[in-house]
Amino acid sequence: MQYLDVANPGVKTLAPYQAGKPIEELERELGITNIVKLASNENPFGFPQSAKEAITRQLDHLTRYPDANGFELKRCIAEKYGLAPNQITLGNGSNDLLELFAHTFVAEGDEVIFSQYAFIVYPLVSKAINAVAREIPAKNWGHDLSGFLAAINSKTKLIFIANPNNPTGNFLTHQELDDFLAQVPANIIIVLDEAYTEFTAPAERVDSFTLLQKYPNLIVSRSLSKAYGLAGLRIGYAVSNPEIADLLNRVRQPFNCNAVALAAACAVLKDDAFVAQVAANNRAEMTRYEAFCQQHGLDYIPSKGNFITIDFKQPAAPIYQALLHEGVIVRPIAGYGLPNHLRISIGLPAENDKFFHALSKVLNLK
Ligand SMILES: *Cc1c(COP(=O)(O)O)cnc(C)c1O
Repeated sequence: MQYLDVANPGVKTLAPYQAGKPIEELERELGITNIVKLASNENPFGFPQSAKEAITRQLDHLTRYPDANGFELKRCIAEKYGLAPNQITLGNGSNDLLELFAHTFVAEGDEVIFSQYAFIVYPLVSKAINAVAREIPAKNWGHDLSGFLAAINSKTKLIFIANPNNPTGNFLTHQELDDFLAQVPANIIIVLDEAYTEFTAPAERVDSFTLLQKYPNLIVSRSLSKAYGLAGLRIGYAVSNPEIADLLNRVRQPFNCNAVALAAACAVLKDDAFVAQVAANNRAEMTRYEAFCQQHGLDYIPSKGNFITIDFKQPAAPIYQALLHEGVIVRPIAGYGLPNHLRISIGLPAENDKFFHALSKVLNLK
């Protein structure tokens, strides 16, 4: 019996998601310690004391189911951004939401548009439901929005845009997105995935919640995993018009967000000083990465995220392996069709120093 033949046809086209290597795994494999993980765009500062206290307060109450409607967290988000709670949908990480968008709007044979080198979860959730994944060739590693428009047809249901994109760090401006959205038919849902928006400088950030007022077919998705430091708890949110939120809420699994995550998210969203410090470190350290690359003639893709992708112009797998032996975990992205690149998450200054030192040794840089 080949169970592959029994599986839903879309599943046959999928490969398992390749996550960044956990620190404990490398410790087991190589018997080394003092490992630095710069592989999964996590927050090198962890999460603030305010979130820790909220988590601790929940520990005595975990016998009960969490609030299925996430009332309190929706209120926190609505207050912070001047939104209405009925515009908000909560997810078990924003990955959960990306899947929810596909389940809610896309049926077998419908088409989903996203960019080459875009976040790998878009093809994953599309193919798993037997939708047709329309991957638009990238332009300068980023979204070719005129290519997106040209690919739209009567079967198009959903468009995914990551801004900034992972793993390339490309960024679309408010004006570019506004011009694009104005040309997309109103019956097509556009998902703007802003998992990294907190890392872009406030002056250049897309005002996506304003775009929502203009384009009722837009959904903005946000994550608490990156700038807010809660990747292990799994919590994210989507903002849309209330009618779309109502549809998402029908398909959403009840209790998809756990009680600890709901409470911690509320606490950290109130901690603007923490996120400002995280973003400032990221900008300063990103400048050091760019200077390092320029100094050593390494090609990189300019990034607005908390990571940088370097083009080694040769297969990157041996470089990745050699870095592991130096105690540095970065991220191979051959699965994205980028076998010569590695993606490095921006860490604390000392962690980045360790990476610079390790890479210099591995590549024999002067
Ligand atoms: C990390 C990431 C996410 C979200 O991750 P969650 O942990 O599920 O919230 C979403 N989109 C992109 C592009 C990402 O890189």
